[in-house]
Amino acid sequence: LPMTARKGLSEELSLIVGSGHVVTATTAFDEYRKDMADYEAAPVAVVRPGTEGEIARILKVAARRRIPVVPRGAGTSLTGAVVLEGGIVIDMQRFNRTLKVDPVNWYVQVEAGVVLDDLNEGLREHGFFFPPDPASSFICTVGGAIAEGSGGMRCVRYGTMRDWVLALRVVLPNGRVATFGEPLAKNRVGYDLVHLMIGSEGTLGIVTEAHLKILPLPTVPIVRMLVTFDDWPSAGRAIQELRRRQITANLMEFMDLETVKAVNAAFQTTFEEAESTLLVDLEEVIVPSAEEVFRAHGARTFTRASDEEEAERFYSVRSHAYLAIKGLATGVQVEDVTVPIDRLAEYLGLVKEIGGRLGLRIPTLGHAGDGNVHPTILFDRADPAGRAAATAATQELCRYAIRVGGTVTGEHGVGVQKAGLMREQMEAHGATESLRLMKGIKRLFDPKGVMNPRKYVELA
Ligand SMILES: Cc1cc2nc3c(=O)[nH]c(=O)nc-3n(C[C@H](O)[C@H](O)[C@H](O)COP(=O)(O)OP(=O)(O)OC[C@H]3O[C@@H](n4cnc5c(N)ncnc54)[C@H](O)[C@@H]3O)c2cc1C
Repeated sequence: LPMTARKGLSEELSLIVGSGHVVTATTAFDEYRKDMADYEAAPVAVVRPGTEGEIARILKVAARRRIPVVPRGAGTSLTGAVVLEGGIVIDMQRFNRTLKVDPVNWYVQVEAGVVLDDLNEGLREHGFFFPPDPASSFICTVGGAIAEGSGGMRCVRYGTMRDWVLALRVVLPNGRVATFGEPLAKNRVGYDLVHLMIGSEGTLGIVTEAHLKILPLPTVPIVRMLVTFDDWPSAGRAIQELRRRQITANLMEFMDLETVKAVNAAFQTTFEEAESTLLVDLEEVIVPSAEEVFRAHGARTFTRASDEEEAERFYSVRSHAYLAIKGLATGVQVEDVTVPIDRLAEYLGLVKEIGGRLGLRIPTLGHAGDGNVHPTILFDRADPAGRAAATAATQELCRYAIRVGGTVTGEHGVGVQKAGLMREQMEAHGATESLRLMKGIKRLFDPKGVMNPRKYVELA
């Protein structure tokens, strides 16, 4: 955008939100260029509205000037969904209030910019919790998690964001405010637009407020443990056997040797460095039967957390693992394939084989209990051959998933990273008509193409 037009835009946005809420300082501005997998694109303006009315006015300015917009929570996306070249970033951080905790109807009414861990801290005082917990929950927002349809560590027990949203307020691309859904246990009125918004990746509208289901804090005693194995497929087979015996975990996370080493190095911890480690939460009564399964599959050690503090430390190895791994190389591609759980051992074997064959380091972690694993492919950004090998590895891992009835993304979403592979998956799984309908839905919501354009469904 030419300098004068940029200045004019900035002045117009200042009139809407106040000049204090238009970000111009270059360092602060630069933070909006990237997501957490280093996808990069330069915005023309960054603005922090405080009301729906202000968002509506910003969208009108954007439409008139033909400048696209992208809503932003904490920017922890890993797929390029949250960075937009030449666009206006609408930072939702001022929408940071929890409006109501309803202890009878079991919901919380919350604004989109609230950080998930802050939400849970507030709920704890009322004896409740909100189950979906992406490993980024210490910074990511309600709106970002809804727009990404995020999963997390407790998914294995409680499901993803998709299972916990009752109703939404959304500013549509034309500036009108819509409400979708009702904060009720049941509601059969019309098409399900709440679920259309979940996983919409900022391409259909801007979520300002949500009614989320909540649950009473668990009262049964839960045991947290680290279980180690000498190889990966044994861990995969142990998980399959737990499923076969109908032993349900509350948490079932996987980390390989390189991941634990990276965490130990980055955070000066001393966790045991085994070929493969599971972080597991189980109700106390089923611990003995689970231990029997782990032993039968060659588990080397079990370490039970002795108290709450230690349980938190175990958890933080996993939740901080990505940040530790990211420090190991200049380039990183985070994979997000989900395979049917009976294919997990085979998939983990494939990751290892591809790493060896293509000469890549691929620390691997993830939500093993869901069949959703994140091989994290490292490369040198300055080396075109390394980058090409990383892309080849991604494609091979995704095509394997497509072949065995899995998906190329379990929770991180599509953004720009997975658009081509999403199309491949949909075509291979007989969903070509469904993709056509999705493209039509995008046009219906956003005929002028202002909301986070040229990504996701549009790009597929
Ligand atoms: C260390 C780390 C661990 C992670 N672990 C997990 C995990 O376990 N599970 C998981 O699913 N993901 C995980 N992620 C990915 C990411 O954190 C989640 O997708 C998260 O929910 C995104 O939230 P955010 O507020 O950062 O959204 P952003 O990154 O800011 O935005 C993500 C998308 O949502 C849109 N958006 C943001 N706010 C709104 C709004 N109010 N209305 C409409 N659209 C909006 C954006 O336009 C963008 O398309 C992880 C990322 C990191 C860095």
